[in-house]
Amino acid sequence: MTIAANLGFPRMGLKRELKKSLEAFWKGKASEAELQDTAKMLRLRHWDMQKTAGIDGIPCNDFSFYDQVLDMSCLLGLVPKRYNWSGETVDLETYFAMARGMQKDGKDVVAMEMTKWFDTNYHYIVPEFENGMSPKISSTKIFDEFAEAKAADINAHPVLIGPATYMYLGKTRADDFDVPAFMDQVLSVYIEILTKLESQGASWVQIDEPMLVLDMGEAAQGMMKKMYDRIAAELPNLNIVLTSYFGDLRDNLSTALSLPVATLHVDFVRAPEQLDEILASLPDDKTLSMGVIDGRNIWKADLAGALAMCEKAVAKLGSDRVAVAPSCSLLHTPVDLDDETALDAELKNWMAFSKQKLIEVKLISDALNGNKDEAAFAENVAAIESRKISERIHNKAVKDRVAGITEADLERKNPFQKRIQAQRDVLNLPLLPTTTIGSFPQIPELRQMRAKFKKGELSQEEYDSYLEKLTDDAMALQDEIGIDVPVHGEYERNDMVEYFGEKLDGFAFTKNGWVQSYGSRCVKPPVIFGDVSRPEAMTVRWSSYAKSKTDKPVKGMLTGPVTILQWSFVRDDQPRETTCKQIGFAIRDEVMDLEKANIRVIQIDEPAVREGLPLRRDDWKSYLKWAVDSFRLSAAGVEDGTQIHTHMCYCEFNDIMDSIVALDADVISIETSRSAMDVLEAFIDFKYPNEIGPGVYDIHSPRIPSTEEMEKLLTKALDVLAPEQIWVNPDCGLKTRSWDETRPALENMVQAAKNMREKLKEKAA
Ligand code: GLN
Ligand code: ZN
Repeated sequence: MTIAANLGFPRMGLKRELKKSLEAFWKGKASEAELQDTAKMLRLRHWDMQKTAGIDGIPCNDFSFYDQVLDMSCLLGLVPKRYNWSGETVDLETYFAMARGMQKDGKDVVAMEMTKWFDTNYHYIVPEFENGMSPKISSTKIFDEFAEAKAADINAHPVLIGPATYMYLGKTRADDFDVPAFMDQVLSVYIEILTKLESQGASWVQIDEPMLVLDMGEAAQGMMKKMYDRIAAELPNLNIVLTSYFGDLRDNLSTALSLPVATLHVDFVRAPEQLDEILASLPDDKTLSMGVIDGRNIWKADLAGALAMCEKAVAKLGSDRVAVAPSCSLLHTPVDLDDETALDAELKNWMAFSKQKLIEVKLISDALNGNKDEAAFAENVAAIESRKISERIHNKAVKDRVAGITEADLERKNPFQKRIQAQRDVLNLPLLPTTTIGSFPQIPELRQMRAKFKKGELSQEEYDSYLEKLTDDAMALQDEIGIDVPVHGEYERNDMVEYFGEKLDGFAFTKNGWVQSYGSRCVKPPVIFGDVSRPEAMTVRWSSYAKSKTDKPVKGMLTGPVTILQWSFVRDDQPRETTCKQIGFAIRDEVMDLEKANIRVIQIDEPAVREGLPLRRDDWKSYLKWAVDSFRLSAAGVEDGTQIHTHMCYCEFNDIMDSIVALDADVISIETSRSAMDVLEAFIDFKYPNEIGPGVYDIHSPRIPSTEEMEKLLTKALDVLAPEQIWVNPDCGLKTRSWDETRPALENMVQAAKNMREKLKEKAA
């Protein structure tokens, strides 16, 4: 018998019930008991959905109030000192203080660091290791959830992050931290946890080791092997399903195969080419869990293709040694397509959300067990075929355009040194010109008006004239303050990707397609389903309107192709590169229209370039090449005198600096203020050739920076960059701030630029 298994289910609930309950609890509007009730209701509902789908291997402990890595830290009792934890079981107050920081009753502690989970848009809480920590079981969550499932007649398998991956994700600030000794202690607690689960009656346990798809290196490979040898020695009867996902095993394959575990799970969606090698080398005592249903995207699987792979595995291993599963936890896909109302029937027929993906898993396992549902398979073939040939997907003009890209399409007419002269003639800006990153405060009234407009309670004209009024105010204010390159304020956008997606062909939007981003925060990524093109101008109206209100050069604002790609569900029927270049052309068309409307400064934001980097370094080069080319494609059509800006935030630039230079933007604005200009170092070491706007204040903080502190930062920048190279701007868009904070901060910023100009003049005299 081949079993159908799941690795994890989205925890927020179809209507984001957990989000609402968490936020009510945080605001003091719901009790802990109410929160616990919602959580339990969701767990039971989700187990029931999986059971109904016919899944044999149902996970527990995949639920979390915030994040599964934070849960692991609490289970191990690894709570940093600053939270003043009692040392017994980790209570909810401590848990949320770790996740979100806490300011209450005179206590003021910052949250733990948060970062992206592998190459997803899910963020986890980074474990912090400190001297003096003594790992011990400090949470009952995993045991309680197992018991809860059992009481609901579900023989669930507990899921936990594996010790190797957990240790790898953790960080310590102490130089003298004894990692090997600590690791040993942590592993002892893992063994206690597993022992307890075994005695509770868990017949198998899922241990996630996604580290196996990274460049581990020999030392880490050896370490992992030692860890699992010890676990197996102490728990010889425990059935472990060891999972890898998000990539291929590559040079870690022999390590993965050597681990003494019962089942190895492999992501065959990302890396189907590994199948033959794995089948040839899988030890006789192991089962292979086939991740053949895409846990990272929303498309229907090609069931026949997936079944063929599994049949190959069964032919080699026998049906008892094969399991069928999604490629990874379903955390990264929405809950249920049946409930979706915003998509038309044809699009819906091409898609599958978590519930539908489990049905696909079951169809495959049933087929392997001799109960092939021919009708369902035939329906799947028809759906796949209709998608393949649909006219809504295929646009010959777009395909031809991408196929015909030449070097010349990617090159500005002249090199930067020549362009900048033309730009200086056109723009006539002072030294150290001031600007902002694009958005201005999205005040509550704007959100209300947008909601009314979307509900049809406000006409297009009424909504537009409201946006015009906000733009008028923003233009007047920038004029008063003395901003050299004003922006219109991006009031027409709720989100920098959604706005463009809604205006481009080839994009669709869901009503309930939520996925968790971090904590209670969910995003609804656009779905790119077809060839992308731009039927009409998207931003020219707003930039031109702003331009009519000032004599200064207005900066047009666009989101770049890589960022639009990165924050959407993408097509699985063509390479990401192709989709990205299609978007690149659509943005190029907009850039050209802005130039035609005499907008001579155009910013193309690319905050997501770095996060698109593949997990393996060997794969970076080809990604960076097409990412850079897509950006250049979007920007390169303009005349020398039109100035292209780009913006990036919160990322390490050091190891991708040559690609940043290769974007060949005339000006780049970057985040630097939190790290007091440290980020600039990469640009200096690399002798960044074009102009730079190092953010002079942190927009993520409500505090208003003084003129002096911004002058200090500018002085630091002037130590290492030529004055002609430097722009003065905040470090990101201002949409999350209020005007009370924004206005004085910008006044101080402009004053700082003016003072620095004086100082430069004095120095020159
Ligand atoms: N132009 C965008 C804004 O100002 C940039 C946002 C971002 O970098 N994430 O909001
Ligand atoms: Zn930013």
